[in-house]
Amino acid sequence: MIVVMQAGASADELAEVVRRIEELGFRAHVMHGVERQVIGCLGDEREKSGLHVLETIAGVSSVMPILSPYKLAARQLQAEPSVVAFGDNCRLGAGVVQVIAGPCSVENEEQIVETAKAVRAAGATALRGGAFKPRSSAYAFQGLGVEGLRLLRLAGDETGLPIVTELLDVHDLDVVLRYADVIQVGARNMQNFSLLKEIGKTRHPVVLKRGMAATIDEWLSSAEYILAGGNSEVVLCERGIRTFETATRNTLDLNAVPVVRDRTHLPIVVDPSHGTGVRRYVKPMALAAVAAGADGLMIEVHNNPDVALSDGAQSLRPEEFRELMQSLRPVVAAVGKEIAGERCE
Ligand code: PEP
Ligand code: MN
Repeated sequence: MIVVMQAGASADELAEVVRRIEELGFRAHVMHGVERQVIGCLGDEREKSGLHVLETIAGVSSVMPILSPYKLAARQLQAEPSVVAFGDNCRLGAGVVQVIAGPCSVENEEQIVETAKAVRAAGATALRGGAFKPRSSAYAFQGLGVEGLRLLRLAGDETGLPIVTELLDVHDLDVVLRYADVIQVGARNMQNFSLLKEIGKTRHPVVLKRGMAATIDEWLSSAEYILAGGNSEVVLCERGIRTFETATRNTLDLNAVPVVRDRTHLPIVVDPSHGTGVRRYVKPMALAAVAAGADGLMIEVHNNPDVALSDGAQSLRPEEFRELMQSLRPVVAAVGKEIAGERCE
């Protein structure tokens, strides 16, 4: 349920409503909107009809159910877009397109530092790189682990870019928090609810990738686990879903961009690298994602993809990434936004 306050309701009236909500056994989550305050009532769904008594309290405009399985993530609760900061120059959801770029995996110092410098020079505002890799084959490269985190941090510090890396297992939470600016939850872990709950206890920004067979509502319900723990710094990442199509690795669901925009206030970025799996399809789908309204992109870039230990076939070479960034500019302008790198250069 949400309680919508009247425009101009006083602080005392708001406090009284919060007190009554808590008295009824719910947790009150106050959202301060531009025009009016909205209070989310979080608790046992079965008890929610009791909340209608709040309709008669001074200052209350209406009491309405939130029909979706997620509440804090729902657009109904917060009309204004959420802005999630990865660093001073990388704010997602603020009308400036941000590009997170870097290799699939951190492989060695030269690879990550060289790639980081190249993506920074081309206008990326965050550096990605996996240290703990979720590989389909048990015999494929599994990532450098903590050494990978150290090298990624080094590259982040050299370039001034915030770093984004996947947390694969709850046991690695502390070490990932120590090194990384942003935690990535991969597609395969989107419904690892115990992992999501632990991340919800932190205040680290999170990139929550869509599961490969997850509906949009299941994805937003997973975001809710993080928000419900008190961590509101969630960015969604569309990375393609499994369909019957085999010409591409996944089917990039760009429908998700406007649908997510309707249903939630959380920012959304699009990953056309995993979404297509094919280097030459990355640019057209990146342009399409921005045209569809994405707040940012996640792009795999490798200084020498021919020898990459993972996802080389979908990784752009530095010059291809530079070219992509140039091609983005007119599209970004056409949708009335800016691109972050333009301002940083
Ligand atoms: C990745 O970002 O390298 C990755 C493994 O992504 P996903 O979880 O989307 O497959
Ligand atoms: Mn990858």
